[in-house]
Amino acid sequence: MAKGYMGKVLVVNLSTGEIREEAVPDSVYENYLSGMGLGAYMLYKHIPAGADPLGPDNMLGIVSGVLTGTGSLFTGRWMVVGKSPLTGGWGDANCGGDFAPAIKRSGYDGFFFTGKSKKPVYLEVKNGKAELKDAKDLWGKDTVETEEILKSRAEGPKKPKVACIGPAGEKLSLIAGVSNDGGRMAARSGLGAVMGSKKLKAVVLSGAAKIEVHDKEKMKALSAACNKWVQFQPPFLPGTLTFPVGLLLRVLPTGMAQDGLLYKIMLKKWGTVSMNQASIEMGDSPIKNWGGSNKDFGPMRSFSVNPDVFKNRETKKYHCFSCPLGCGGICSMTGKFTHTHKPEYETVLSLGGLLLNEDAESIFYLNEVLNRAGMDTISCGGSVAFAIECFERGILTEKDTDGLVLKWGKTDAIVALVEKMVKREGIGDLLADGSAAAAKKIGKGSEDFAVCSGRQELPMHDSRNDPGFGVHYYAEPSPGKHTVGSYLYYEMFQLWKKVKGLPSPWLFYPKSVKYKTGRDKAVMSRVCSSYVNVVNGAGGCIFGAFIGAKRIPFFDWLNAATGWNKTPEEYLEIGDRIQTIRQAFNVRHGIDPAKIKLHNRALGRPPQTEGANAGRSVPIETLVANYWAEFGWDETTGVPKSATLDRLGIEAP
Ligand code: SF4
Repeated sequence: MAKGYMGKVLVVNLSTGEIREEAVPDSVYENYLSGMGLGAYMLYKHIPAGADPLGPDNMLGIVSGVLTGTGSLFTGRWMVVGKSPLTGGWGDANCGGDFAPAIKRSGYDGFFFTGKSKKPVYLEVKNGKAELKDAKDLWGKDTVETEEILKSRAEGPKKPKVACIGPAGEKLSLIAGVSNDGGRMAARSGLGAVMGSKKLKAVVLSGAAKIEVHDKEKMKALSAACNKWVQFQPPFLPGTLTFPVGLLLRVLPTGMAQDGLLYKIMLKKWGTVSMNQASIEMGDSPIKNWGGSNKDFGPMRSFSVNPDVFKNRETKKYHCFSCPLGCGGICSMTGKFTHTHKPEYETVLSLGGLLLNEDAESIFYLNEVLNRAGMDTISCGGSVAFAIECFERGILTEKDTDGLVLKWGKTDAIVALVEKMVKREGIGDLLADGSAAAAKKIGKGSEDFAVCSGRQELPMHDSRNDPGFGVHYYAEPSPGKHTVGSYLYYEMFQLWKKVKGLPSPWLFYPKSVKYKTGRDKAVMSRVCSSYVNVVNGAGGCIFGAFIGAKRIPFFDWLNAATGWNKTPEEYLEIGDRIQTIRQAFNVRHGIDPAKIKLHNRALGRPPQTEGANAGRSVPIETLVANYWAEFGWDETTGVPKSATLDRLGIEAP
């Protein structure tokens, strides 16, 4: 056996209570890595076609990466995978903190759950012994309380690591996630509802299994060289000056290739909120349910969410396991809660600019409410934006909203609505399954205001500003996610410095170049997808990947940890395989890739008449057809071709 991974998973049937170890052949790791790749391999093998995502046949995986715990850096991410009840197809989400190494130290690369328990249970794995335990007294508790209770039960100073769902997952909200580290969230794809449907409240891990590494000295040397880049931190702007940076990027006649080292400096200083005001100004952040622009949430309003507002409340830095950067923080609060994880950029803008809400205090509060409920802040914000627009247009009235008067920027109503969503109460019950499901029930043309792709609410990066986001929102097996690719990501990954034959972007280029549809765009999008699959298989953090492939050596770490001798090109082929099996998973489960609809607003159809993205539209059909073709999938249907499946060793769907 090569090293780095544990070579086995635990399969738990929650209907029968059977728990069994399954050895995973080396060839599976060589072809799929661990993390999302291993998850894709297992789910493709075990979930029957057409399985109900909330039924016993769905399989939920909780997996760690090949590099986690090996002495590499930026490799503390764990992933949850399953058939998504939100999109009906492949679902995945990942999260940091310190749960990922606990998966491997418990002796396994992952846990896979099938069946459905009759009563609430949690899985405890302690020093190699796995047991299902009664979770009746935990059912109804929020994610923070659940974790505290489970940790308090352990004797001695060393506490177990916990991943759990909150009330949102228990109540089968289709936008529920899975939490660890007191409210960090693997949020997307609605997989918290899958866990809830199985009556699985938590996974509790302790153990000290050894993680073997092929070449420890090489790992150390690679990590030391990488750390130098991360610790490079010159003095930087105050947060209030990020607005003019965004303004400059907007008015400059040319685009400029971005080096992720600059973003690293911002991340280290502020975290992801570093981009708040700059993104709004340059047109990266969608405003007013994607119908507005930077003009609606200009500097006077967006100043209230400038990066310093969040930084100034930080009482403690927060690092995921093995992360030398530490983009997270714990922030103080007054009122019902004393502290919360520093809200992420996605959270601030989903609950801020998207709703024209300039009240930062409400964002701190709702961040904690949603983290405790175990609900995705992006989908929640998107669903609230949908409801406000429906109200403003007379599709919803006070009769439908339990008396709430919903208006853009009306903070009290926004807070009350989110509180109703997490309780599934009245109008909140309707919205707790996301905007697309709500629109289906409401009708009356409300579908036009659910800004989604494949029924998942879109994140806070505007595809009219970077059409590369549009390709991934539309064409990823898990649509509507920002953590895969864009032209900006391609620039920051800098893979052309490691992989032969890839296009290198010009330092300055006319902005119109981003909207052209040549083959280079398809190559860039495909490479982003495949590289991120490798990073996810390694347990890596995309923010690390942004610093550049030469500086953050995921390929070299993989070889040194496992003893493999693969080239970067071979790793990208593994990424292609993971992408293709996820697409084949969707086809097997009845998803027609060509019928996934990315909302017209995200495509600039019609183009906006004012603001940063005025006049822009995205030629999505051509971009996506080229992207599919690049993977060896049919360019009109998006279905992987037989020759591609054969080449990659994947069974036909
Ligand atoms: S950069 Fe941030 S999210 Fe990524 S591993 Fe470090 S602390 Fe975690």
